[in-house]
Amino acid sequence: MNRFESLRKQMIDYQLQARGLQNQVVLDAVNAVPRENFVPTELVEFAYSDSPLPIEAGQTISQPYIVALMTAALELQGDERVLEVGTGSGYAAAVLAEIADYVYTIERHKILADSARIRLKDLDYKNVQVLQDDGTLGWPEHAPFDAIIVAAGGPDVPETLKQQLAIGGRLVIPVGSNLHSLTLLRIRRIGENEYQQEDLGSVRFVPLIGAAGWEDEAATKL
Ligand code: SAM
Repeated sequence: MNRFESLRKQMIDYQLQARGLQNQVVLDAVNAVPRENFVPTELVEFAYSDSPLPIEAGQTISQPYIVALMTAALELQGDERVLEVGTGSGYAAAVLAEIADYVYTIERHKILADSARIRLKDLDYKNVQVLQDDGTLGWPEHAPFDAIIVAAGGPDVPETLKQQLAIGGRLVIPVGSNLHSLTLLRIRRIGENEYQQEDLGSVRFVPLIGAAGWEDEAATKL
């Protein structure tokens, strides 16, 4: 076992399982993704630390526990088509791609979308497509999705994303006006116009900026 494999194993034991995350499908997926390939070179020694880390464009790669928690909340079995809003480094997209049939991921910053695309290709992920766009509008050409994950905090749940869920599909998204204390929601589409909503706890995220998100970074400093 090399140094990173051993750090990854410790991360799974002490950050995920110790916090009660027991979903073996998710644990195996996290174990399969070399997180050191998704963090800036100068931060590689912190790749498995229990925190988010800065990446380009003033954004972050999420804390491993949050990625695992949100992935588990999607209840993936393996045959799903998943939409991710907020590609960032591409790390969570890789974790999702380890489980799901296909992952569509959208990032608003070109520099992040471009580098995530290269990283995922270099790691041979053939079931992920990266788009540079406003993810609050979803990806209508590929809808409906069995699962949608939003990795940034918006003021509310974008109606467009709810509409792009398959019946039975799950949308996991942090919402609220205080980015340091957002409510993580799981929305389940149970009928054409019927949704169930669950509160999964409090989380911190960078802002979701777009047509159905915040107008700009300044709007979030409420
Ligand atoms: N999932 C990422 C990872 O594994 O590295 C972390 C995502 S980071 C916490 C949130 C990302 O959402 C940022 O890269 C940000 O630019 C992006 N974002 C914010 N608003 C967006 C929008 N409307 N559409 C697409 N991406 C958006």
